[in-house]
Amino acid sequence: FHVPPAVNEPVKSYAPGTPEREEALATYKEMFNQKMDIPLYIGDQQIKTGKTRNMHPPHDHKHDLGVFHLAEKSHIETAIEEALKAREKWAKLPWEQRAAVFLKAADLIAGPYRQRLNAATMIGQSKNIYQAEIDSACEIIDFLRFNVEYMTQIYDEQPESDEKAWNRVEYRPLEGFVYAITPFNFTAIAGNLPSSAALMGNVVVWKPSSTQMFSAQVLMEVFQEAGVPDGVINMVMGDPAMITDTVLKSPDFAGVHFTGSTGVFQNIWAEIGKNINNYKTYPRIVGETGGKDFIVAHPSANPKEVSTAISRGAFEFQGQKCSAASRCYIPNSMWNEVKSYVEEDLKSFKMGSPEDMSNFITAVIDEKAFDKLASYIDQAKQDEDAEVIMGGGYDKSKGYFIEPTVILTTNPKYTTMETELFGPVVTIYVYEDEKYEETLHLVNETSIYALTGAILSKDRYAASLATEILQNAAGNFYINDKPTGAVVGRQPFGGARASGTNDKAGSKLNLLRWVSPRLIKETF
Ligand code: GLU
Repeated sequence: FHVPPAVNEPVKSYAPGTPEREEALATYKEMFNQKMDIPLYIGDQQIKTGKTRNMHPPHDHKHDLGVFHLAEKSHIETAIEEALKAREKWAKLPWEQRAAVFLKAADLIAGPYRQRLNAATMIGQSKNIYQAEIDSACEIIDFLRFNVEYMTQIYDEQPESDEKAWNRVEYRPLEGFVYAITPFNFTAIAGNLPSSAALMGNVVVWKPSSTQMFSAQVLMEVFQEAGVPDGVINMVMGDPAMITDTVLKSPDFAGVHFTGSTGVFQNIWAEIGKNINNYKTYPRIVGETGGKDFIVAHPSANPKEVSTAISRGAFEFQGQKCSAASRCYIPNSMWNEVKSYVEEDLKSFKMGSPEDMSNFITAVIDEKAFDKLASYIDQAKQDEDAEVIMGGGYDKSKGYFIEPTVILTTNPKYTTMETELFGPVVTIYVYEDEKYEETLHLVNETSIYALTGAILSKDRYAASLATEILQNAAGNFYINDKPTGAVVGRQPFGGARASGTNDKAGSKLNLLRWVSPRLIKETF
């Protein structure tokens, strides 16, 4: 099985004076003033239902970006029918043809669509250009290319045979359709969840997040131009409860590929359980959900490296990553130094619109997120066992801006040490140096989640102890680094416990969930 070798897409710099910076800015300006009118994509139809929702940039919420159309129940039923109709040909298409379609999609994003997708992500999701490039250019390209390579590795895996019996495995697509539900925070995830299932021969009903529609539309344009046949990926928007309910009631529902909140995922799981007798096959349930990701510093760590891990791990993309560092355990002997470095970092972070590329911090996604974060910050200002020591300001007059905020607590089980906030707020607990091992147990027991975590230590025994005690506390565990920024093909990403099914996005393990192997034994 020979395919072009997957290599990580190089990250462009966007430094002042570079052509990509000029191009990104020009595309931003052009798209900012366009009004999109985003239809449902069902089979070969682009449907404008007339029932719409408005879109606004999070950093400039009075500015109008146009609308997307909302589905009725009947549209979802049609999307399922169209998907199943498309399946008749798509599931039989030779794998090379499917691979070529998604390699072409990667090539389009690497080239002509790169700045359009970056600008859509900057405008609609308020990412700065550097975060947009990593997400809506490099990561989605990597997903598409590496998945093709992993697909061939799967097909390569065959049982033993002998001269009397030939055993072979066909990695067939699931019998039915896959439901992809994607979040606002990564355009790459929005692209990967439907395309990875489709690559393996499945047809998909895709529900993007209502706050990611600007870039979802561009992804759909890419899929179409790359030659994804009509009905293979159907994009539907509308009332999430209605869409999910309609999808899960279909006897042809064969799996869900989900990234989003733990609560929603658990409801889906329960609903699938209730409908289990209606399905033709046991549905595949693959989900990546919340996180309460930790940084632990051992007294031997370098304080500057610890502060960088905190500043970047907690505040990049306003902390709106499942992987964002949100609870940190710092030894007493190091705290003052770490604190002053973090203060320096925060002073250097400018906040504002992504259009000004010197801004590092931009807005959080919407008013609901803003209000939730503001209320936790206010609470910390009042509570006896917590103190807001940096940031703590917020303002939603123009956009949903929350200052990067550091809460210091004397209570290792303080609310913001346990609850996922999904924003630019990090909580620090300072421990007594001699209580390192005890602290590791505390880290393990504090959260229901197990997505990412980091240990910073120069002492090998200490790093090893953390690796051992925290073995189930993070699906992605980083030694001497921040807990964010997984790269496809290098750090396959996913968590356990309440953080998901740990099927590692962009891996063989993930793609295997979208096939139903048939063993054929032929005797001579
Ligand atoms: N893969 C991303 C990272 O490593 C996080 C993805 C997410 O937020 O779901 O930072």
